[in-house]
Amino acid sequence: MQHEVFTCRWKYCSNQYVTPELLYSHLTADHVGRKSTGNLCLSCQWENCDVTVEKRDHITSHLRVHVPLKPHHCRYCEKSFKRPQDMKKHEKTHTEEERQVEHPLTPPQKSMLDDTQSTYSSTSNLTDRLTPHHAPISPPQSTYSEGIPIKYIQ
Ligand SMILES: [Zn+2]
Ligand SMILES: [Zn+2]
Ligand SMILES: [Zn+2]
Repeated sequence: MQHEVFTCRWKYCSNQYVTPELLYSHLTADHVGRKSTGNLCLSCQWENCDVTVEKRDHITSHLRVHVPLKPHHCRYCEKSFKRPQDMKKHEKTHTEEERQVEHPLTPPQKSMLDDTQSTYSSTSNLTDRLTPHHAPISPPQSTYSEGIPIKYIQ
């Protein structure tokens, strides 16, 4: 159920990736390039950004501001988090789930039946409760009471 798309906003580029990791590796490989391949680019051309750095390391770490990389992965599922404390908090939900399987929580029983049984000893109270208080039945209201048939426009 992952429909999120990460779009590259580099100048003249609009490539889309399903994960921030893929977008990030695209940026470093295709846009930053390498000295050895002769295409090293040390100025960020991301939309509304004009950062220029001196070293490749600097631009690769700078690109993280544009890509929502989440380096902290949950040990139990596919989720990942930006901050380690968020991941710890999330991982706790897994460990707590395991504990709850052994002792499933039952909701407190509060039914109408219990209520009736508790008042059963008091007879007068019971008859009073069981006596239906019928509301007077009002005659069905005719929509034609005014003599004008209602037309339904469809
Ligand atoms: Zn791109
Ligand atoms: Zn930038
Ligand atoms: Zn998880």
